[in-house]
Amino acid sequence: MIEIMKLPYSFNALEPQIDAQTMEIHYTKHHQAYVDNYNKIIEKYPELQNKSVEQILTEINDLQIDPTDKQGIINHGGGVINHNLFWQIMNPANLPDQELINSINQTFGSIDNFKEKFNEIAMKRFGSGWAWLVKNQIGNLEVYNLPNQDSPLSNGHTPLLCLDVWEHAYYLKYQNRRADYLTAWWQTVKLLGTNDTNE
Ligand code: MN
Repeated sequence: MIEIMKLPYSFNALEPQIDAQTMEIHYTKHHQAYVDNYNKIIEKYPELQNKSVEQILTEINDLQIDPTDKQGIINHGGGVINHNLFWQIMNPANLPDQELINSINQTFGSIDNFKEKFNEIAMKRFGSGWAWLVKNQIGNLEVYNLPNQDSPLSNGHTPLLCLDVWEHAYYLKYQNRRADYLTAWWQTVKLLGTNDTNE
């Protein structure tokens, strides 16, 4: 059994970019439901109970269990850890991560080029899913989107940054205006150290 990660800030901490009501529903309803549904599946499999969600999703392709439960773990286990990372990325207490900034500059030329590329793949995700910055098996950075709650861990990739583009993440405030949500969201990402001018 796992428990929901404690949110490291209050629901209104990301106002005005991410409104308090969206944060509250997103965390207490959506994220909590992924935790509860994951636990319901895992309770059937004692051999999985002492493994972390990350470990199980990393090994998911080799897991010999009921296919419906396997898909359930991909959906709900992914829902748990994807949101864990997402909340941490938006933590207002974050400071610029110089190592991450250096790798992004090396791979994409500049932070602005990276953001442009990331926004492009976030806009292109048709339907529900996430935009990802990952480190691949040979240590290079890549950006791509994945559907639903699929985790890059199941591709052997390490997630570094992620953006939730499910409508539940932005619809109350931004409705169909995903691009406006993206612009606002970047202002909550202090890790790249370039957001002060727009606030
Ligand atoms: Mn979400």
